[in-house]
Amino acid sequence: MKTKLGLLYGGKSAEHDVSLQTALAVIKALDLEKFDIYPIYITKEGSWVKGPQLTGPVENVKSLTLSAEASMSPFAMQSAGQVSKEDGDEGFDCLFPLLHGPNGEDGTVQGLLELLNLPYVGNGVLASSAGMDKVIMKNIFAQAGLPQVKYTWFIRSEWEKDKASAYDKIEAELGYPCFVKPANLGSSVGISKCVNREELETAFVEAFQFDRKIIVEEGVVAREIELGVLGNDHPKCSVAGEIIAKKDFYDYKAKYEDGDTAMVIPADISEDNYQSLNEMAISAFKSLDCSGLVRADFFLTKEGKMYINEVNTMPGFTPFSMFPLLWKHTGVDYPQLIETLVSLAQERYEEKQ
Ligand code: ADP
Ligand code: MG
Ligand code: MG
Repeated sequence: MKTKLGLLYGGKSAEHDVSLQTALAVIKALDLEKFDIYPIYITKEGSWVKGPQLTGPVENVKSLTLSAEASMSPFAMQSAGQVSKEDGDEGFDCLFPLLHGPNGEDGTVQGLLELLNLPYVGNGVLASSAGMDKVIMKNIFAQAGLPQVKYTWFIRSEWEKDKASAYDKIEAELGYPCFVKPANLGSSVGISKCVNREELETAFVEAFQFDRKIIVEEGVVAREIELGVLGNDHPKCSVAGEIIAKKDFYDYKAKYEDGDTAMVIPADISEDNYQSLNEMAISAFKSLDCSGLVRADFFLTKEGKMYINEVNTMPGFTPFSMFPLLWKHTGVDYPQLIETLVSLAQERYEEKQ
């Protein structure tokens, strides 16, 4: 019996186009002897449509005229037959949300799939939403005793009442340079590095455009090392990888938008450092009650200090993204990685029944 696998892709977030690339790559990698694939496309406006079979370049998908007839209610997903009439109406065996950022990686889609009682790949509602909010995530990591850079946070209305004392607090507790970030985004959107009060003021205005809550962190000069984690109750780590920005180290715009970075896998770090990062990654995974996968991102300073920066509960997942490449170097290739994630999703679903 083939596994009926629904792929959710596209979505309202800034990473819409990346998600299309991912869906295409996943479809190409899947063994059609084992899987029946049902793509479900979420437009940039947030409408759900029965996805076309993604066989051509991503541009084909973008230029599709989506007929009203193709549109569907997200609640109609229980039945695979709603997506394709050919094969009866037995329902999906698994859904794979290939979605990043808000409305995809943040627990909202996961909540819908829980309501529909469908198995799905990756993190559940709690881990997804806690992982999307940098303040909540850091508070949980602190509770788990994980080392982190100093941080503080502000709600827009608090700041509007007394801006000067917000800046005073940062200067007293964190100093410069510091990083100002919207609490609930990814992909470096709205993030600024500040070296004085003037920049801090600009950064606050910028970050509050994206969220009502922002986090401010002490800036560190450090290498950026990332590990993949895979599993449910007994998660395992991949080898470590390093992100090297070719321009300015802190030039995260270059890093994400211009793709001006290099990946080194495995990262050139000592065995001791790797062991510590491995333990921290597993501890981070367990502290947020993750399942399926995360990519755990760290800072490693020249002095050998290690800090966890964040986990991403749906990391970049094209075959050229860090997470799949980390697993490739660990001996799990892209098709095997996808199959493992589907099995983990089904295992977790069965445990809950
Ligand atoms: P996102 O979730 O958008 O990836 P991050 O918190 O990972 O946000 O920040 C994006 C990038 O900004 C990091 O990869 C790193 O290059 C830089 N950065 C963020 N926070 C710090 C910090 N506290 N010290 C030094 N660099 C930082
Ligand atoms: Mg992130
Ligand atoms: Mg990051």
